[in-house]
This record gives sequence, C-alpha cells and structure tokens, in this order.
Amino acid sequence: MKHSDSRRNFMATTAQSVGLTALGGMLWSGYTDSVKASPLVLRPPGAIQEADFLTACIKCGLCAEACQNRDTNIDKETGEAREGTLKMAKGGDSLLIGTPYFVPTEVPCYMCEDIPCVPVCPSGALDMKTLLNEKKELDINKSTMGLAVVHKESCIAFWGIQCDACYRACPLLDVAITLEYQKNDRTGKHAFLLPVVQDTACTGCGLCEQACVTEKPAIFVLPNNIAKGKAGNHYVKGWDSKDQERVQSAKGLETTTELSKKDPNDYLNMEVDY
Ligand code: SF4
Ligand code: SF4
Repeated sequence: MKHSDSRRNFMATTAQSVGLTALGGMLWSGYTDSVKASPLVLRPPGAIQEADFLTACIKCGLCAEACQNRDTNIDKETGEAREGTLKMAKGGDSLLIGTPYFVPTEVPCYMCEDIPCVPVCPSGALDMKTLLNEKKELDINKSTMGLAVVHKESCIAFWGIQCDACYRACPLLDVAITLEYQKNDRTGKHAFLLPVVQDTACTGCGLCEQACVTEKPAIFVLPNNIAKGKAGNHYVKGWDSKDQERVQSAKGLETTTELSKKDPNDYLNMEVDY
C-alpha cells in the first residue's frame, strides 16, 4: 500500500472512531438526561433523596437480593420463592441502569418488619438512620417511599359504591388510610365511605394500589416530591402554637410607598374617578 493510501485509511479510521465516540457521547448524555428525568420512580425503604441516590448507589443489587430471599417471600402453598419486590433497572426501563426500584401494581413492598433490604446496603444509598423510631429501633413504618393519592373521579367509593379494598389492604389499618363518612345527598338514604390518605403515616408501600379493584388503580403511589404540595414558610397557622413559635423571632419587612406615608384616612377618603 502506498504511503498516501495508508494515510488516507488512517484518517478515515480516525474520523470513524471520533464520530463513533461523539455519537456514543451524545447517546450517553441523552441517556443520562432521560434517567435524570424519571421523576416517577419508587425506590426501596430508606432511600436518600433521588439526586443523591443516583450517585450513591453502587448498583450492587444486594438490596434486591435480600428482598428476593427474605423469609416471608416463600409461598406457603408451593414452598417456592415468589418474585421479589425490588427490581434492578435494565436498559429500556428509562431509569439509571442497575438501580433498584419497585412497581406496586406488579409487586408492592410488603413492609417487612426486619427490613432485610436496608442494612445490606454498603453505600449509604439506603440509609438506616431514616428508619429508626424513638426507641432507636429499625421501624419500617418510618419509611417514606412515596405517598398514595386517590383519584376521586375513578374511585368507586366516591360514586357511592361500597368498596374498602385499599383501606383493608393497608398495613397501617385505619392509620395511613382512614374512611370518612359522608351523607349521600343523591340517594338521600345511603352514605359514602371515602378513603382518605393520611400523609404523615402513609409509607408509599403500594399495597393499596395493588388491591384497588378499578381497571386502572384509582389509588396510586407517587414519589413524595411529586405528590406533595408546599404552602411556603410565610403562611403561619394561627391555631398551631408550634407554627407560631416558628415566626416569633422573625423580623418584619417593611416597605414604604407614597401611599403608606400618608394617614390611611386621607387616601381611603380620596375622591376617585371611575
Ligand atoms: S421491606 Fe419491602 S423492599 Fe424491603 S425486603 Fe421487605 S418487601 Fe422488599
Ligand atoms: S444495596 Fe445499596 S448500593 Fe447496592 S444496589 Fe441496593 S441501593 Fe444500590
């Protein structure tokens, strides 16, 4: 091969590899962008904030393995192990590959009392400290995997049909989901028994979502940052002494306008042309 040919080949090969590297970089950046934009994912109990979780989790799969192998996951009738709650994300799941998550309609979290999935985590992505109760014991009821939300329009209890499937499925019976009695004015003689999720108690296990009888669950778990609103610190509950304490030392911010320099009686009695 002539020198000029081999040089041309070298240039073409280099251009190809640069092109492939650039394409790979574009695909990877597109992939990481899309995984960052997976706001609906539900993580295992004790998972730290999603942005930190994505960097902390070393994708070892120990949590999913512990979940799969937990004692309570053996089917009593067949003696066989059932599908575990936690899955490890694969390509095409639109999640960071190798990170654990769960889908309540497939397998919810059964809120194991010993929480086998959390202590095995070597990276701190699942933080045991967040699951300690007042006695400093691991307590699954402290988990905040998400918050169940009721879609009133498709929940048949809001139509007046008797259904308490989600209420009965909740492991924190009558605490995380309560039933609210309301008179049914349409019939005049029946009552609504409406499921109401208590956001301070709901752990987001998804047992209610799995139990819901409607075609697409009318109660479903969302990550807390999606499900919850935020009123803002400047709203103070006048009837709540703790909330009052929060603002006792707050300094007022006064602004002066041309109008505020005057006596209110002056400008309130001003003639205004409409
Ligand atoms: S607490 Fe939930 S996620 Fe953890 S092992 Fe039990 S079922 Fe699996
Ligand atoms: S055990 Fe911890 S580090 Fe390993 S996959 Fe689960 S969350 Fe990630």
